[in-house]
Amino acid sequence: AVITLILCFSSDHEVASAIVVPVSSVWCVGGPRLEQRRCYFRNLCYSFPHDEFVFVRGADSLVQGLPPTGGPLEAPTTERGVSPPAPPPGGNGDFSVSGGVKSDLRGGASVKSALGGGAKRSLRYRGEAVADLSGGVEAHGNTDFHFSYVEIPEAAIRGKNFTSSILPEKMLVFRRFKPDNLMHVLHDDLLPLWATLAELEYAGARDYRVFFADDHDEGDYWELYRVFRSRTHLNSHHPLVKRSLRAEVDKDADLVCFATATVGAVAHTKWYQYGYDRFQGPAADATITGSKIRAFAHFIRKGLEIPKYDIDMPRYGSRVRQKQPYAVLFNRRSDRLILNEVELSFAISREFNLSTVTVSLETHSLSGIIHLLENATMLIGMHGAQLALSMFLPRHSILLELFPYGLPAAHYTPYRTLAHLEGLDLIYRAWENPDPAKSHPHPEYPVHHGGFVLDATRKIPEQQQAEIVSNVPVKPHRCCKDPAFLFRMYQDTVVDLPGFIRTAWEAFTQRQERLKNRKTESSNATAATFSPAEVKNLNCSYRPGKGVFHVDWEEPWNRAFLGGATNGGEFRMRYLVRVQPAGATEYTEFESAETHLDVPAAEDGGGGLASGSGVHFWVAAVAAGDVVGPWTR
Ligand code: UDP
Repeated sequence: AVITLILCFSSDHEVASAIVVPVSSVWCVGGPRLEQRRCYFRNLCYSFPHDEFVFVRGADSLVQGLPPTGGPLEAPTTERGVSPPAPPPGGNGDFSVSGGVKSDLRGGASVKSALGGGAKRSLRYRGEAVADLSGGVEAHGNTDFHFSYVEIPEAAIRGKNFTSSILPEKMLVFRRFKPDNLMHVLHDDLLPLWATLAELEYAGARDYRVFFADDHDEGDYWELYRVFRSRTHLNSHHPLVKRSLRAEVDKDADLVCFATATVGAVAHTKWYQYGYDRFQGPAADATITGSKIRAFAHFIRKGLEIPKYDIDMPRYGSRVRQKQPYAVLFNRRSDRLILNEVELSFAISREFNLSTVTVSLETHSLSGIIHLLENATMLIGMHGAQLALSMFLPRHSILLELFPYGLPAAHYTPYRTLAHLEGLDLIYRAWENPDPAKSHPHPEYPVHHGGFVLDATRKIPEQQQAEIVSNVPVKPHRCCKDPAFLFRMYQDTVVDLPGFIRTAWEAFTQRQERLKNRKTESSNATAATFSPAEVKNLNCSYRPGKGVFHVDWEEPWNRAFLGGATNGGEFRMRYLVRVQPAGATEYTEFESAETHLDVPAAEDGGGGLASGSGVHFWVAAVAAGDVVGPWTR
């Protein structure tokens, strides 16, 4: 049945109100794990009063890539009689069934699924999730980022004066993690958003608008989120948080429906895990490269309309020009202070002949800081979220991270990991404060801020205070409330200048060397990424007089282009030649620097020639960086 909608378009924006609610459909693709999945919806609705996504299921609803809903689930098949395993305490990201089947869920029961041609899947208790709302957080057991919806039968609301407000734009539904912390903003939200939108755009789907399905306000870093604006017609649409969505739609409508919505953020941009279920460290299987981070940084700079050159910021007290090398000293104004910031800044200028500009998030605009970082030689700052901005530094610049007393730099490595990503090409050094006398802890702070104060009248017991103070260096711990970690992390520091300068010189020397070798390094790096094509016209003949097989071939057609990639064709293509008697699984391998080779007949493995069954020859080209091309027989 085709439902006829009566639509009333308002004049100032494109939202329509309907006196009936459109039926929903969903098409999911991707692997069995939530973070591999993406679901495309038609008419995905949202209920403000219930704070839930709603799938209006009708006869015309199409559900693809999820187990069937609405009707009873298919009965367990071969494992009938086997008692179901206990459900896990929280979802673990594995595939699970979609909304509307809650009452049918028997935790862990094995059922036939519509996904993957009837392959069996385990159902989970927290089983409504169909996709992941955040690509950046490795939150094991945390279901906050799992997307789920509730089903309403269309027949039940038909003729009941149920109304919806329809947004005709394409929406990407996403959930932010901690929009008040710059590292989390960049790593957990903006990078996965950028990659997800890029993936959609590569597939030809442009102009997505972002809806943040979380309970945060726009927050201090909204300027960055706003970069993700969609452009439809002449308008540009910024992302929406729930509150601003409400302002855009008919307030009396029962449901807000996105005519087209996509859920499922890519998970391949993470470089760090924060230690929720083990000690923090680089993300396992991280595949993000520095080059992708640079592409992202470029996108952000463009979105913020930051000019490429000619830094001219009178508010810094001087006109810093691109050609005048400078260092940026990042200081925090509220906590984890550098207490001798002015001396430190003078010392850097003196030692390295650099102007030094001191900035902080409290006193400078984000755009201004990013602009400044674009051409900086060095960034120096206390460990903290602001150092994630080092992704905006130019290649071969230096990041010097300072650590308060008692915190081993090797244990807290989000910025070191970032700096070392291949292709970001930063030079990184950590400086740890070795001297408790130059450290100022804050026992007067509340516990969550590294102090001993529980509330207006109570402090943590003295014995526990003593344990915290004696826990040096701080032992490995989980995120994020370890009191010894917080106590040390929120100390202020007087930076020991000679010690710091020694560390800075190491980095500076490395930079000089890198700049000297830059040309060769980058040309090798380019060559290593290219793969040769197949060799052509492979011929082989037996030469009884010489007792050899003569094999020759033509070089891969893209050889000429690979030569250019190695700085004037310095590298020589090599070839691997494999000799294998027909029907055998073993082979003998030879290498040739030319496009021909004589293989002694005795090397045919003894089988092929003697038995008359024949010998196979396989040849593959090997480009610089040991990249082996396809085999030709
Ligand atoms: N922040 C800041 N100045 C300060 C303290 C914090 O700008 O003096 C910012 C910090 O960069 C981050 C947020 O406030 O974006 C939260 O800081 P927190 O200390 O909780 O996190 P951390 O910096 O340790 O990651």
